[in-house]
Amino acid sequence: MTNPLYDALFAPQAGQDRPFMTLPGGDQLSAAGFHDMLARFANALRALGVGPGERVAVQASKSPQMLAVYGAAVATGAVFLPLNSAYTPDELEYFITDCGAKLLLVDPARRAALAPLADKLGVRLESLGSEGSFDALADSLPTRVTPEPRSDDDLTALLYTSGTTGRSKGAMLSQRNLLSNAEALTDLWRFTSDDMLLHALPIFHTHGLFVASNVVLLSRAQMIFLTKFDLDQVFSFLPKATTMMGVPTFYTRLLGDARLGRDTVGHMRLFVSGSAPLLAETHLAWSERTGHAILERYGMTETNMLTSNPYDGARRPGTVGPPLPGVSLRIAAPETGVELPQGETGMIEVRGPNVFQGYWQMPEKTAAEFRSDGYFMTGDLGMIDDQGYVNLVGRAKDLIITGGYNVYPKEVELVLDDMPGVLESAVIGLPHPDFGEAVVAVLVPDRATPDLGAIDAALYDKLAGFKQPKAYIVLPELPRNTMGKVQKAALRNDYAAYFKETTQ
Ligand code: AMP
Repeated sequence: MTNPLYDALFAPQAGQDRPFMTLPGGDQLSAAGFHDMLARFANALRALGVGPGERVAVQASKSPQMLAVYGAAVATGAVFLPLNSAYTPDELEYFITDCGAKLLLVDPARRAALAPLADKLGVRLESLGSEGSFDALADSLPTRVTPEPRSDDDLTALLYTSGTTGRSKGAMLSQRNLLSNAEALTDLWRFTSDDMLLHALPIFHTHGLFVASNVVLLSRAQMIFLTKFDLDQVFSFLPKATTMMGVPTFYTRLLGDARLGRDTVGHMRLFVSGSAPLLAETHLAWSERTGHAILERYGMTETNMLTSNPYDGARRPGTVGPPLPGVSLRIAAPETGVELPQGETGMIEVRGPNVFQGYWQMPEKTAAEFRSDGYFMTGDLGMIDDQGYVNLVGRAKDLIITGGYNVYPKEVELVLDDMPGVLESAVIGLPHPDFGEAVVAVLVPDRATPDLGAIDAALYDKLAGFKQPKAYIVLPELPRNTMGKVQKAALRNDYAAYFKETTQ
């Protein structure tokens, strides 16, 4: 028996002295150097008694060490569990208790503060990084590792969903889930050992960890591994890169900088965007300024990537492209799961080797989100257009039902975004005494304060009456999480009493 994911992504190959990572200070780490670290870490996991199937939780700064822990977990069959670095000790307590981690790795600077919590939870605590206790333990161990035999369905990683409402759920990802997706993306996006990816995403999330890193590891490409998205650093490393993957805010921030032009990115071969909607306007502005069409793709923690605009062929702004090879995707009536005719909007449901194995220790929640024929309900609403491209209209839980009518926020947002004085918008439903929910537009002004009366009047012949906002709220910016997703649940929460207050 072999260990398919280890063999494909991490096993040493000929030419191991090739560079693998360029670090922010300019230092390079070779493929051999990375593998030595990974092997020592794998031996350290074994020395600490972390067996196959046991969880290794990591809440640490982005570093080669953190990626090597992922590789070490794959090698030993342990389950890698990265945690958002912004989580507080209280949140950490929930995750560690829920997953029953055997080992928790943190930054050296946080070790002392977290020691009492680790004692209370009975989890072994070590620190990770050049001054870390885990690294010190690993230092004296061999740089060779015999990988644990694993099968396709063995659990490899547990990633907690961002969970804007309710408890965060642990998505169980198997070897096959990760490998099938890495293979599909590498092939579709034409990654080869000649590539150099500019990697400025966090690695506690599926985008930076699996999409970006797995594709680089599988294709034996190189990456510039930046700890965060910093414009000066990005501009200084762009000349060396061939590709970049980012969330939409990377692209809007780059567009806001005078240094971006055809000369800066002329040599690049691919820009990929995902994790949140890329406005068609941003796509067009980017093409005009740089000559590159950003390739937008769509996926989620539970399913890995699901669709992608093509490498060759039209990358259509405002769409996320056709399903990836191997992924079955249908649009179904949310209540019944019956497939809808092409062109209709409904729940996006998916099946394939990429789809996770369920939520950790939540069999009922898992069962509730799968149809009896094995399709997973993504919770995203969308439609497939006449060219087979998926168009997303938002999360099902963001759908507004006002006076019995369905309003898809994206339809209203697209109209609002085009209005003079509006930089961007978020349309939400707020509790309303007459309508059940009322459509409310949250606007971020461009420069001057937008003329709300003029906007309201302009909507008159653009949108049916029930879709027109009943109120406007102007904010300096929209609340977003680290992946650039607008936090509509937070907005609904902040303004929950809006119509109570204004109608009394
Ligand atoms: P996460 O599990 O944190 O990756 O979040 C997954 C969710 O992000 C999906 O269910 C979508 O709602 C959203 N998402 C991902 N990619 C895109 C995209 N290209 N456009 C719009 N929303 C996206």
